[in-house]
Amino acid sequence: MAYPISATRLKLYKSCPQSYYFRYERGLKEQSAFGSPALGKAVHAALKDVYEQWNYAYPIPNLEWFSQCWQSHTVDLKANQVDDGWRMLQKYYERYVEPLPMLRKPLGVEKSIKGSFRVGYYEFVIRGQYDRLDYVEDGLELIDYKTTKLVSPPDAVDIQLGLYDLLLKQTYQQALHKLSLIYLRTGEKVTYEVTPEHRKESKRLIEKLAVSLQKEDEWRPKKGEQCARCSYARYCSEMEEVPEPLPVTARKPKEMQLLLPF
Ligand code: SF4
Repeated sequence: MAYPISATRLKLYKSCPQSYYFRYERGLKEQSAFGSPALGKAVHAALKDVYEQWNYAYPIPNLEWFSQCWQSHTVDLKANQVDDGWRMLQKYYERYVEPLPMLRKPLGVEKSIKGSFRVGYYEFVIRGQYDRLDYVEDGLELIDYKTTKLVSPPDAVDIQLGLYDLLLKQTYQQALHKLSLIYLRTGEKVTYEVTPEHRKESKRLIEKLAVSLQKEDEWRPKKGEQCARCSYARYCSEMEEVPEPLPVTARKPKEMQLLLPF
């Protein structure tokens, strides 16, 4: 049975193997600090329609096309969210569509992709989802739309770059050249280029994860800034002299035979 990995999983593993163990091996859910994702989903869905349903025989859409695509995704939103989302789309149109001589058809929009990676006897399945994928001169550019209020570099970006490069090479036989984050509230675009170091780092993390999966005592706590936000601090020997036992609802530790050698 292949073991699932993703950028989110690897990010948590890198920050602290023990918190990864609590979350993914023992199934303890973290408390989410995020609000309703309805607005973000609606804006993503509208941008999907903008690119997917546009007739590319014509050079660029007008703002009316954006408005049509937006209106079909606003039924479940509150009035202030409808205004908020429309402001983001208008800004996007002004910065990234209106100045173009013609709109280029992306290679894909809002797609799930899957790949695999093998370390010794272990097979990992990598799943990812992208907002938009474009061809650029020397490879692929991944576009990620952000509807968050803060424009801050995502802490998992290095892992994302390496992992998506692995995935896209398997799916499209092309290397990932860069990842661009478009912050829809401000219209800002931040681009990260993929380097050989990113590719090595993802592989190294997956290899380390394979070692932890083999040996239960490899899920070590790693003290750091992340401890202040960790939902598992009360179970952690680094934080508590006498840590609480895991709740009875926690999954039993996995038997190693679930990861069958190939
Ligand atoms: S409190 Fe810190 S060391 Fe302990 S599990 Fe959480 S992140 Fe890891």
